[in-house]
Amino acid sequence: MSIIRILPEAVANKIAAGEVVERPASVVKELLENSLDAGAGRVEITVEGGGKRLIRIVDDGQGMTHDDALLAFERHATSKIRSAEDLFEISTLGFRGEALPSIAAVSRLVLETRHASENSGTRVEIAGGKLRDVKEVAWPHGTSIEVRDLFYVTPARRKFLKSESTELGHIATLATHYALAHPEKSFRLSSLTNEILNVPPVGNHRERLYQVMGGQTIEQLLEMAPVERRVLAASPEASEEGEPSEEAPLIRVQGFISRPEVQKLNRNNIYFFVNRRLVRDRLILHAITEAYRNILPAGVFPIALIFLEIPPSEVDVNVHPSKIEVRFRHGSFVHDLVRDSIRQTLLATRPVASFPMSRSAPPAGLAVEAADVADRLAEEPPLMRGAIMPPPPARPSGRGTSRDFHLSSPRVEPRAQRLPLDSALAPYAPVGPLVAPPAMPESTEQAPIQTPRELPLDLQPLGQVQESFIVAVNSDGLWLVDQHAAHERVLFDRHVRRRQEKKVEVQRLLMPIIVQLKPEQQVTYQAIADELAANGFEVEPFGQRTVAIKAAPADLPTDEVEKLMIEILEGASQEAAVLSLDDLRGRIAASISCHAAIKVNMALERSKMDWLLQALGGTDCPMTCPHGRPTVLRYGMKDLMKAFKRI
Ligand code: ADP
Ligand code: MG
Repeated sequence: MSIIRILPEAVANKIAAGEVVERPASVVKELLENSLDAGAGRVEITVEGGGKRLIRIVDDGQGMTHDDALLAFERHATSKIRSAEDLFEISTLGFRGEALPSIAAVSRLVLETRHASENSGTRVEIAGGKLRDVKEVAWPHGTSIEVRDLFYVTPARRKFLKSESTELGHIATLATHYALAHPEKSFRLSSLTNEILNVPPVGNHRERLYQVMGGQTIEQLLEMAPVERRVLAASPEASEEGEPSEEAPLIRVQGFISRPEVQKLNRNNIYFFVNRRLVRDRLILHAITEAYRNILPAGVFPIALIFLEIPPSEVDVNVHPSKIEVRFRHGSFVHDLVRDSIRQTLLATRPVASFPMSRSAPPAGLAVEAADVADRLAEEPPLMRGAIMPPPPARPSGRGTSRDFHLSSPRVEPRAQRLPLDSALAPYAPVGPLVAPPAMPESTEQAPIQTPRELPLDLQPLGQVQESFIVAVNSDGLWLVDQHAAHERVLFDRHVRRRQEKKVEVQRLLMPIIVQLKPEQQVTYQAIADELAANGFEVEPFGQRTVAIKAAPADLPTDEVEKLMIEILEGASQEAAVLSLDDLRGRIAASISCHAAIKVNMALERSKMDWLLQALGGTDCPMTCPHGRPTVLRYGMKDLMKAFKRI
């Protein structure tokens, strides 16, 4: 008897659903792409319960005939390709014919649609993959798809979904992307309580960017003039001399990139579109990083929206079930084209009169004046040349944990080699409540000094190294204290205590600070508004997706307020972090203390150094900053003796 069985259609669909439908946002993605493929000029998305309860998409596209409306739910039913050859010339967003049956397999779905060739519309109702009802309905034109109770058939999967606001955040991000890629179409996204996005058609990407991101983001961006190149590659397509031939495929790149002084904490602001399809591509990410080399320090990212137009035959979109990864036929050509176009745009940057220095100025030490940019670009490494601080050493690997946080001062990890006392510079084992202690740089591992966790209170400060590290002594030996990290720890402890006692000190701002939020940030803001308030922020809605900050935690320089708030919003919406309330509070406290703490490159009077060392000694974890980095290094008597070869 044969033991191999063909899976029933229903089972196969559920498996496919596992690949295509990961979360509500993936449903929105598939349906949105279908609407765009159907030539819609207007797409309206409504969600309830972060998309878990309801997703409804209405478009004014070409619609489906009665027969097609039923066929659409058969597996591999697609109107978009007919043969295997077509696979290499795909110009639509969909083509696998898997989305609708997959979604219908795991939800309660209602489709209403009408094609121009028919007088009446069709309504199809499916639940858990089973056809429940088909009937004729009056329907103007276009298509409406309603997806309720996603994953109700697979409760285990439903449990894996994140909170409603997290899921809604993903949907907002997604709708934003498509809106950016299609400025000539109108998009609307709303939840029960809120209109998250509503953009009428406009003439170009720049106007769309303005609609979606607001004027403040636009100010941070440089427009990349479109660049067109014919593929020049050592391939049969290119002519013998390596010159691009007339028929060589034409590739066009354009977009927006951030000014050199803009620094983002993560890659969330990098969007890359291939033929208006948002894709994830490591090659392009690399090209972007390369272009910003010498301009942005490691671990900091630009904003980038890159639109690539490329003949369908030059790109394989069939490498990933949800089509978010692609493969280029001439990958290195595309890479270099993107890198060079960005670099060209950066090179052309000159300081302008309205240079937004005050609010968004990067901290001293990391600052790259626009005037320097051209010089910097012309030079090759070293990175950060000309900065006041000595170049920071390459960050040791395995320190990714603290990436989420932005130190508003250069990362000046003490490097043993720079000090003659090399091997003995031993940090205390980092103990931080917030993140796991990072692995310490290898160079320090030889001298794991066992020291008490407390900081002695009899330290005598002698002075500062580069106005950044306090040098102190006591009878135990020589101590180095990172002034920024130490102050951060002090402020962090104080803030956490006051937050617990509900006594966070607040400063009223003379002028409210108006901040425009991106759709996703708006969602996060609403989710954490109460917690922000408890941490000393007084924020009020101020028009569409705009808020006014009227008060902020005390101690904070006012020009840090906006940055801090955006940092908190971005940190709180990060996918990787399944944020508990405690996590969120810890992050907020860490962000506040980081922005309020004294910076490096700042001269301190003796009395201030005294105060800082005492205050640090009084904290719960004086040896690490809230991000888990060491605050204090000690070079004991014994180490000194050894280094001087006295023992
Ligand atoms: P694919 O998009 O890969 O072809 P789908 O399962 O997403 O597969 O959709 C199946 C078919 O249903 C599409 O090929 C298209 O013909 C039709 N269809 C789906 N959504 C729409 C829509 N909003 N408007 C018109 N036709 C649609
Ligand atoms: Mg599709």
